[in-house]
Amino acid sequence: MKVLKFGGTSVGSAQRIKDVARLVCKGECNIIVLSAMAGTTNTLVEVGDYLYKRNSEGARETIGALERKYWDVIDELYSSQEYKAAAREAVKECFDRVRSCMKDLFTLYEEKIVLAQGELMSTAMMHLYLQEQGVNSVMLPALDYMRTDKNNEPDMRYIESHLKAMLQENSQADIYITQGYICRNAYDEIDNLQRGGSDYSASLVGAAVEAEEIQIWTDIDGMHNNDPRYVEGTLPVHQLHFEEAAELAYFGAKILHPTCVQPAKQHNIPVRLLSTMEPDAEGTLISNNTTRRTIKAVAAKDNITAIKIKSGRMLLAYGFLRKVFEIFESYRTAIDMVTTSEVGVSVTIDNTRHLPEILDDLRKFGTVTVDEDMVIICVVGDLEWQNVGFESQVMAALKDIPVRMVSYGGSNYNISLLVRSEDKVRTLKALSQELF
Ligand code: ADP
Ligand code: ASP
Ligand code: MG
Repeated sequence: MKVLKFGGTSVGSAQRIKDVARLVCKGECNIIVLSAMAGTTNTLVEVGDYLYKRNSEGARETIGALERKYWDVIDELYSSQEYKAAAREAVKECFDRVRSCMKDLFTLYEEKIVLAQGELMSTAMMHLYLQEQGVNSVMLPALDYMRTDKNNEPDMRYIESHLKAMLQENSQADIYITQGYICRNAYDEIDNLQRGGSDYSASLVGAAVEAEEIQIWTDIDGMHNNDPRYVEGTLPVHQLHFEEAAELAYFGAKILHPTCVQPAKQHNIPVRLLSTMEPDAEGTLISNNTTRRTIKAVAAKDNITAIKIKSGRMLLAYGFLRKVFEIFESYRTAIDMVTTSEVGVSVTIDNTRHLPEILDDLRKFGTVTVDEDMVIICVVGDLEWQNVGFESQVMAALKDIPVRMVSYGGSNYNISLLVRSEDKVRTLKALSQELF
């Protein structure tokens, strides 16, 4: 059994839904994980914003406009009146649920109910479309098996037992449909796995059913060797190691949500990135294998702040780094990059919520300086230290670019560089030119 996840653009119109249906019917009995139709979750976020601000008129108008789009899709998607009516009813139920959240007190609880409706609608529509085509499609409601625990981590045991039971009860199915992104939390409330989290859903489902493969179908033919939103002429990378994919996803390659790699890696399930626009393209296979001695790809992570702590007290002292790191830990702030010298240490963070307090505490240990508006550029590949030449190639690309930090040797898979935001695009381009 495979798990196939289709993102928002892949189910973004009636035609796309039909294309996906054709694609998934070709295979054996697989589990299909769907995102909301493109733009829907953003619109639901907007509705939530209006409701937080008690602007019910803004909310009502936004909901109305979204609802009209769904009526159009339904009209185009189904051939029979019977299925059009069934789809309208399912979608109307979701919009009614959104409207029922338009009350005086709008909290995180209601917001999460609103945000969940996108995936509930796309899956209901696909399920009905497949049934209209004569396919025995079975819905696996994510809210009945996908669950997080008190630490907001997936409750793997719960997910596995519930999902397996549901599959067993419906063993006659041709195909299973389920929602990405949405879940329940430890208090049984509707929750989600964070924006872009349908990739994570697919990986968790894959791990729970010990799938033979997890496929992430999107609007591009695999992980490209640089960010196609900023660099022209990027090319797909056909093979990546789990670690390489995790680095790229974490450092900004939007095609894959950073949380997606771990469950697949842990259960050694290959992940394939494929394009719904070009279903026959090779895509990217992520597994425990990799092509050796090559640099694979470059990615960029925005909104980074660098902090330098300089202190004579660090000279020949032990325990200094521990004290510095403890401060970040006490504010639950993750550090991405670290570079050290004998008299100072620089670190980067992306969550600046507690920056003033962190700086205040750090000043007890040395002179502190901050560089905001920075970007981490991550070069990923088989960068085992004994392979010669890759570091110098990366550095050669940067000859005209001011580089604030360089980190290499932390793993066998990456070199990270910190540059100013304004230099991001030219750094990405220079690296593509030098490396690929
Ligand atoms: P989906 O809605 O299917 O989850 P996403 O928008 O989340 O799709 O991810 C696909 C997009 O990721 C692509 O359209 C592309 O612009 C962007 N992207 C960023 N970096 C890369 C990369 N290195 N390789 C491929 N796509 C990338
Ligand atoms: N629909 C959700 C979002 O837009 C989840 C996803 O698409 O992965 O964030
Ligand atoms: Mg995505």
